[in-house]
Amino acid sequence: MTARIMDGTAVAARMLAETEQLVRGLERQPVLATVLVGDDPASQTYVRMKRSRCAKIGIGSRSVELPASTTTAELVAVIRELSEDPGVHGILLQHPVPAHIDERAAFEAIAPAKDVDGVTMASFAAMSFGERGFQSCTPGGILRLLDAYEVPLRGRRAVVVGRSPILGKPVGMLLLERDATVTYCHSKTVGLPEIVAEADVVVAAVGRPELVRGSWIKPGAVVLDAGYNPGNVGDVEYGAAAERAGLITPVPGGVGPMTIALLLEQTAGAAQRAR
Ligand code: NAP
Repeated sequence: MTARIMDGTAVAARMLAETEQLVRGLERQPVLATVLVGDDPASQTYVRMKRSRCAKIGIGSRSVELPASTTTAELVAVIRELSEDPGVHGILLQHPVPAHIDERAAFEAIAPAKDVDGVTMASFAAMSFGERGFQSCTPGGILRLLDAYEVPLRGRRAVVVGRSPILGKPVGMLLLERDATVTYCHSKTVGLPEIVAEADVVVAAVGRPELVRGSWIKPGAVVLDAGYNPGNVGDVEYGAAAERAGLITPVPGGVGPMTIALLLEQTAGAAQRAR
């Protein structure tokens, strides 16, 4: 079997076109504030990509760049200010921040109504209870991709490899909300290959190149690779996995574009509600 590719770029383009329409109809231009701490080149690229996508569909952006020496208190103060600024509708704090900063404290300084990246505990709780609110963008984007390809989730076995607060954990909650039977795996998991081999849906969210081997994949399974490692390599051994899977996301062009599309959709939504 050779897997069908889940084309995140194409699905994201459709979402972006719809968001552009929504933005055109708004009285005020939505504005996304991006906050970048330090000079990690990958983070700089991500922020630049997000800002340029904003510009393409008529969303304004405000860029805040802080030195790597910024303290937690300083970062929290900057984010609180943006939270109170009526000219800003959404706030994105680029993850990861330098290790000395308490990232959770910084995320929690984002006003819930502006948490368009879905990183606060309030957003996580709403998402987990199936209530209205902003979704974590990568997990939400993954679900939108599954829906675009009409992947059934009810009663299916889903295995999420990774349990980070912005990716693994929330994607598992969204799959659970959709009645999948969810197993989380992490660095202390024993028997990862056997667990993955039982999955109808596999989400790889680890940050280790090709950790999930192609030979582990159950024939016909749906494989979503959120990993993005240097050299455009995902967390799944793509070639071998594509020979067994039914559907698979490429890296790049799978999960990444969906993340940005959902961020922008949620930013437009926040501006619409702020009217
Ligand atoms: P993270 O915070 O470093 O979390 C990694 C997770 O992987 C942890 O839960 C860790 O387990 C688990 N893990 C590490 N080694 C493992 C192993 N050998 N076996 C099983 N699990 C293992 O990373 P993240 O922020 O979630 O990001 C994960 C990947 O997604 C990265 O490649 C990142 O670049 C990518 N990403 C992509 C997007 C996108 O838009 N496409 C967005 C965000 C992140 P423990 O909890 O036990 O430590």
